[in-house]
Amino acid sequence: MTAPAVNDTEILARYEAVIGIEVHCQLRTASKMFCGCSTAYADAAPNTHVCPVCLGLPGTLPVINRRAVEHVIATGLAIDATVPERTQWERKNYFYPDLPKGYQISQYAIPLEGDGRLTFGTSAGEFTVRIRRAHLEEDTAKLVHAELPDGSRASLVDFNRSGAPLMEIVTEADIRSAEQARRYAEELQLLLRAIGVSDADMERGQMRVEANVSLRPRGTEPFGTRVEVKNMNSFRSVERAIGFEIERQGRALDAGEPLAMETRGWDDGRQATYRMRSKETSEDYRYFPDPDLPPLHVEEAWIAGIRAELPELPAARRLRYEALGITAYDAAVIVADPTMRVAFESISGAGRDVPAKEVANFVTGAHARALKGAPANEGGTAGSSTPEGIATLLHAIVDGRVSRPVGRDLLDRHLADGTAAEALIAGAGAPPIGDDAALLEHVDAVIAANPKAVADYAAGKPVIGFFVGLVMKATRGAADAARVTELVRGRLDGGD
Ligand code: ADP
Ligand code: MG
Ligand code: ZN
Repeated sequence: MTAPAVNDTEILARYEAVIGIEVHCQLRTASKMFCGCSTAYADAAPNTHVCPVCLGLPGTLPVINRRAVEHVIATGLAIDATVPERTQWERKNYFYPDLPKGYQISQYAIPLEGDGRLTFGTSAGEFTVRIRRAHLEEDTAKLVHAELPDGSRASLVDFNRSGAPLMEIVTEADIRSAEQARRYAEELQLLLRAIGVSDADMERGQMRVEANVSLRPRGTEPFGTRVEVKNMNSFRSVERAIGFEIERQGRALDAGEPLAMETRGWDDGRQATYRMRSKETSEDYRYFPDPDLPPLHVEEAWIAGIRAELPELPAARRLRYEALGITAYDAAVIVADPTMRVAFESISGAGRDVPAKEVANFVTGAHARALKGAPANEGGTAGSSTPEGIATLLHAIVDGRVSRPVGRDLLDRHLADGTAAEALIAGAGAPPIGDDAALLEHVDAVIAANPKAVADYAAGKPVIGFFVGLVMKATRGAADAARVTELVRGRLDGGD
């Protein structure tokens, strides 16, 4: 018998989802976490970025990568976390062919960062997730399951990634929906990129998101049995995988089936999670302080120096944009898109004093469309256009030197071939008719020439647009349609 159709919303009426997210991200450093091997192995042949340390050979000693520590401290400052006076390195013991030492150097009892938070917008408003900890560890090697020339199958190990610096960031189980989880991951990526600690590309494995998902009956406190979901390589799959788990667990609970604490993988092709293994517990790893590495003391002055180097964070930038008069929505869109952000900054900074709202509308609209055909130049604007040219044209529109429709046309031309803004404005002919007296001459002429339409208007027919169209035609677009509409209505309603 097939299970009755159940959907998310029906399950969520009875159960509340409880979700915590663990993110691993590769830190942007020149060398690995505990040796001098280069991290630029992305396109390198297997096992070309290795040394005795990251191959786990006996008798070698790890040396801490200072930059990696600084990246975690910078992240901690950006999420308002606290740094302990002293942190330590611990061995997480387990066997796997991608881990030659038989342990991973990590942090357990004393993470480098604790008690942070991240706030972001969702469809239901702002949401804050508490971040339990962020710590530093080393990445594992990579297993490649391959078919050999003789047709046999083998698992090969590429140690290029072995020992690359990884930061793990763990939230409290504060998240209550798949959408919040996706938004958290997106905001975290934005933040990591803004402070330059990671490229955080999910598809390239530089940012790996794992979701812990459980359900509890609405109105109850204790957490239910959780499942850990791995192998999601896009934000969309994070949202989908959690949605799938909520539904799967809801059905199981309804059917009275016990849930197992397990690790599941996300299969993007089947759009389903599948069981990988039962979940290990921390006791299984026998953590203990690594005798090869002394505790790490983090001096106040070191933190202060890193704080001083922090750029403007996405949240602060959004607030600054809103204060300039941009809607919260547009501010979020622009801040989340590096290309839009650069264009917004360069056009706003071109010294033409264009209202921020005009610039925002332009970069999210016409300019975003233009970028699809012509990639951004060094100034951050499309093709051979310039921030100054764009700002000059926007200013001409705001100033009334050209009408809005004409201005839009000039902007499109500037974007298409970079024609100088002043030349475009000069070639656009007569400036728009700004004063009402001149406009009224056209309005009156059009009304006088169309008595039938005037009668239609009196009879309640929607003919305003007809008159406005005629005036726009008579002025060859050099009038403000909104103002013309007001004037036509005023005249037809018996004004003088
Ligand atoms: P692990 O040792 O498996 O990493 P942690 O206790 O560190 O487990 O928790 C990992 C993540 O799972 C955290 O984000 C935490 O908030 C979340 N979490 C813990 N218990 C639950 C639960 N019952 N349901 C959902 N998430 C949970
Ligand atoms: Mg964990
Ligand atoms: Zn090495």
